[in-house]
Amino acid sequence: MIQAIRGTHDILPGEVERWQRLEVVAREVCRRYGYQEIRTPVIEQEELFAKGTGESTDIVQKEMYTFTDKGGEKVTLRPEVTPSIVRAFVEHTLDQKLPISKLYSMGPMFRYERPQKGRYRQFHQFDVEVFGIEAPSLDSEIIEMAAKFVAELEINDSELIINSVGCKNCRPAFSQALLAALDDKLPQLCADCRRRAETNPLRIFDCKVVADQSIIDGLPHTVDHLCPSCRDHFNEVKRGLEAYALDYQISHRLVRGIDYYMRTTFEILGKHLGAQDALLGGGRYDGLVKHLGGSDYAGIGYAAGLERLIMAMPEASGLINFPIVYVIAIGEVSSSPVQVLARDLRNAGLSAFIDYKVRSLRSQMKHADKIGATHVLIVGSNELERREVLLRNMATGDQEIITRDTIVDHLCKIESTLVNK
Ligand code: AMP
Repeated sequence: MIQAIRGTHDILPGEVERWQRLEVVAREVCRRYGYQEIRTPVIEQEELFAKGTGESTDIVQKEMYTFTDKGGEKVTLRPEVTPSIVRAFVEHTLDQKLPISKLYSMGPMFRYERPQKGRYRQFHQFDVEVFGIEAPSLDSEIIEMAAKFVAELEINDSELIINSVGCKNCRPAFSQALLAALDDKLPQLCADCRRRAETNPLRIFDCKVVADQSIIDGLPHTVDHLCPSCRDHFNEVKRGLEAYALDYQISHRLVRGIDYYMRTTFEILGKHLGAQDALLGGGRYDGLVKHLGGSDYAGIGYAAGLERLIMAMPEASGLINFPIVYVIAIGEVSSSPVQVLARDLRNAGLSAFIDYKVRSLRSQMKHADKIGATHVLIVGSNELERREVLLRNMATGDQEIITRDTIVDHLCKIESTLVNK
């Protein structure tokens, strides 16, 4: 038997309703905050991520699905969507075409990571990006929006953490301070950290190796080494969060694993998710648009992991209790009158089901019950002659005769009260 590839998963009926609810909430939150959707290809030139995500990151170094296509081009299945959105923004000069540059996207991402609970090789993200605004008040708005999104999903056990990683002016001095503090302890750190010390010392804070943690916990904090403008920016962001009455913690280790971040970084953690607990994460990346060939626009965004949000959502959310009318022909009646009846119900916006397995009335009734039909319509030869149908309410067991001409309207009225319940 051929099975799904390790680290990928099917989303089956029964589970997919939660995904649909998540997607509806994401779109609705975007509508309220004025974001427009953008859809970019899942496959891009490898160079986009090498440049955009950053050569020194784990994603680019170890995790990309890169291959040479039949035309000899090096292509990559996107490990994240921010570089793709920036590429599209620059390629289509969206700065001139859109009234505001607030964009969102949803879809699959691919990273060759070791699969575990909450970590997959194909996973899905909801992603939000804003271009061209440097004001720290946008940082606090976008964080508030992320928190609202999580709250709308009825995830109540989450925690917001923030940090500032400084900018290209203050980062070199901080990196020096970091290396000075590490000094003779560097050889005791893991091979990845020793590599990071040479390529991007800040990334040492990302290390998860248990033996390294006591050394890393003693290292200096970025927020104590910010230049005056980064410090002002960070203070303004904190003030904004306080105005929204949002609880947050400053996490000195929140540097995030992607090269382009500067100033504000943030994550929302799910308290009961285990080791992979980040529901979403993001930050400011003012240099990235220019770095990828565009004008010098500021940028800020975040990405939420849909699998983790699904895990954190309460059990019952996403159950869409949509009514089903089960239409049954009995006796000598051919299927065409019930097919036409079902079509009329569907045209009126109802969900109608016909069993084509030619089973007895009894087994069809059982099946109607099993699939959660709210009503059964029975059409026999007598009913057909009199242009009537027998309507059975599955919840109460009540039955009544309704004329064929009024049945659609009649059911529409009943079903709309059920949907609104
Ligand atoms: P990142 O793009 O690494 O900043 O990740 C943003 C969010 O995507 C994280 O907070 C997770 O919720 C989710 N995520 C990242 N990598 C994975 C993965 N391999 N499997 C599932 N979710 C992931």
